[in-house]
Amino acid sequence: MVNISFKSLAVEGIRSLQPYQPGKPLEELEREYGIQHAVKLASNENPLGPGKKALAAIARELPALSRYPDGNGFSLKKALSKKHGVSIDQLTLGNGSNDILEFLARAFIASGDEVIFSEHAFAVYPLVTQAVGGRAIVVTAKNFGYDLDAIAAAVGDKTRLIFIANPNNPTGTWLTEQTLRDFLKKIPAQVLVVLDEAYYDYAIDPALKACGYTSVMGWIQEYANLVVTRTFSKAYGLAGLRIGYSVSHAEVADILNRVRQPFNTNALALTAAEAALNDEEHLQQSLKINAEGMQVLTQAFEQLGLDYIPSVGNFICVKVGEAGPVYEALLCAGMIVRPVTNYGLPEYLRISIGRADENARFLDALKKILQT
Ligand SMILES: *Cc1c(COP(=O)(O)O)cnc(C)c1O
Repeated sequence: MVNISFKSLAVEGIRSLQPYQPGKPLEELEREYGIQHAVKLASNENPLGPGKKALAAIARELPALSRYPDGNGFSLKKALSKKHGVSIDQLTLGNGSNDILEFLARAFIASGDEVIFSEHAFAVYPLVTQAVGGRAIVVTAKNFGYDLDAIAAAVGDKTRLIFIANPNNPTGTWLTEQTLRDFLKKIPAQVLVVLDEAYYDYAIDPALKACGYTSVMGWIQEYANLVVTRTFSKAYGLAGLRIGYSVSHAEVADILNRVRQPFNTNALALTAAEAALNDEEHLQQSLKINAEGMQVLTQAFEQLGLDYIPSVGNFICVKVGEAGPVYEALLCAGMIVRPVTNYGLPEYLRISIGRADENARFLDALKKILQT
């Protein structure tokens, strides 16, 4: 048999790609360490689980699973168009909002085109850029957050796309209305600006005091080059179903809808997402538990003399010194959190806010580890 290096056959952008590192799955930790009742605070999931309305909608849909889903997701799009006051042809549905980030890169980035994002930004931006042969321009962060002036200054002839997460993951930092206004005015109309608002619902919770935070959803008609992405994976508690969406200019949406698979969102996700939009009680409970948990964790960090990056998401980065050994010790104690060395933050761990009992267990374990 001829010895072929299949790796060498792969296109260049893919060959050099570093796979996305997800948070360690609970089952894997329990299997590898022989632990039971481990706690996972690593992937910014909703610790309350899905809401009752979403679960009921899924149960109703089950007998119809032999059928293909509605490839246009009409019913969910109708609900979203009402919620955001936009037309249906401005919406694109994704198998998670990550799907949409990938459509954007595939549709608008050719080999050598430039994509701008910040240092410490969401890991999917470099991945989708590199996969299509785009050139990533990484702008140095300011106080762990985005330096929008520097990002605007980095725009050149070859820039096609700018990715901005507001709030940002993993830092939890956020951008204010005025800085976003000033920024958008400076960006040429042919450069798409993607505002990833995965954590929007947390950031508008008054309890988290995201002073000056604003969503740009209401600016869609004003800036034709704006694309806003949202997800059902976080505050709506449906990460396992994979459903997210974007709102954009109708012509951008038309292009995105050409690159997606005909049935990229599944039937259970479509119906559950629509039901979740109407479950205000579950959303409010989720926000409440998050704000309470955020306060408990930040107070404990202060008592322990640990620095943290103020966050308006459902997660927080805390400075523990060399993070690797602390992460490992937490695993041994049955706690999965997220190292963020690959985000350029080797001294920090990112903790997703859990339920009160989970936060208490985490703090207990952390205190013991730091004392030894
Ligand atoms: C979690 C997250 C998303 C959502 O991803 P899905 O594919 O919708 O699950 C998007 N952007 C950021 C910054 C995130 O942290």
